[in-house]
Amino acid sequence: MDDSILVVNCGSSSLKLALFDHDHQKIASALAERLNQSGALARISADDSSVPLPARANHEQALAALINAFKDRGLMTGEPAAIGHRVVHGGETFREASLIDDETIAAIEHCSALAPLHNPVNLAGIRAMKALCPDVPQVAVFDTAYHQTLPPRAFRYALPEHCYRDWGVRRYGFHGTSHAFMAQQAARLLGKTPATTSIISAHLGNGCSITAIRDGISVDTSMGLTPLEGLVMGTRSGDVDPSVFDYLSSRGVSASETHKMLNNDSGLLGLSGQTNDMRTLCDLADHGHEPSRLAIDVFCFRLARYIGAMTASLGQLDALVFTGGIGENSARVRQETARHLRLLGIELEPDLNRNHGRWSDGRINTADSRYPVLVIPTNEELVIAREADRLAAARHVNPDG
Ligand code: ADP
Repeated sequence: MDDSILVVNCGSSSLKLALFDHDHQKIASALAERLNQSGALARISADDSSVPLPARANHEQALAALINAFKDRGLMTGEPAAIGHRVVHGGETFREASLIDDETIAAIEHCSALAPLHNPVNLAGIRAMKALCPDVPQVAVFDTAYHQTLPPRAFRYALPEHCYRDWGVRRYGFHGTSHAFMAQQAARLLGKTPATTSIISAHLGNGCSITAIRDGISVDTSMGLTPLEGLVMGTRSGDVDPSVFDYLSSRGVSASETHKMLNNDSGLLGLSGQTNDMRTLCDLADHGHEPSRLAIDVFCFRLARYIGAMTASLGQLDALVFTGGIGENSARVRQETARHLRLLGIELEPDLNRNHGRWSDGRINTADSRYPVLVIPTNEELVIAREADRLAAARHVNPDG
């Protein structure tokens, strides 16, 4: 066994690995795609080399091939000291990361009904790693866990009580590892402790969510029962009137077709008719493509409305924080969003907004802005590695518990 920590993130047809040393510095990462399909492929980032996979490789075969490739390249000398798995849905069972044993696996399986596209593939990764490294402690880190502190007024829908009691219909929230990381990093940048720092954290990637964090704790968030609710996303609609299901069924579109449309064909892609990629949309808009301009406009307006809404959950605001591929990189989205927030006294300094990393430690607001605005790169893999290391170490101290 060496002292590395392996982070495993299994998607339906993909697999991302990240390898950290014992100081939590990233050594390498790897990506396998098109799993269970023809043309499965894998690459290691350290030397940008490809790794041969069997035809129609599954998650277990890809994991085995990539771990061998790490060993062949001297990146791992033995089995890792701990393995951390990203798990999407922990329901109300998991308020924090958990060492994986049979009970944990059964509980994750139980939560699969709430995340049928995600939890089963996360479990496939867990089972594969248990087969490959049976003696290595493994830890599940849940996207939902950080939001288990939401008060009932934020997590309950105004539906008949039995929907919650009998079927668990409530807002769970996602992207918890990223929002938790924002809470820590923002506190550090502001020279405060997380327990006294209140922020609005906007995670804008292909999936987008926003969270109100009061004194380090999640108190409100935009995603709901599933990661479909809330902001406009790459291919997801975010909020729509639920009556759309009944209305479209009267037009011959079944509930499952509508569900698929809301998840896969909507958001930036649906509005623009072109792409879910914000960078491409900005280029298209600059060249006069009106639907792309509208897609960006709807995206930013919805985001600004949610930022306004999140202030209702906070007693004070120490900073508005942008993260994720769009949040970290799109000065245009940040600027267009901030334009809707003048009433809140939020103002961005244009040069800092364009060049934040270079001079400002992430701060992009004007000196007159009522609230600081920060751009902070997210690092969900690091959070998972730290949690895996922490729980594996605790296991050595207390092997029974
Ligand atoms: P995921 O949720 O899949 O992890 P990311 O966090 O990588 O996604 O975010 C992907 C989004 O970030 C895409 O819409 C991409 O266009 C956008 N993005 C990345 N770089 C830029 C950039 N320089 N300008 C605008 N958008 C960007």
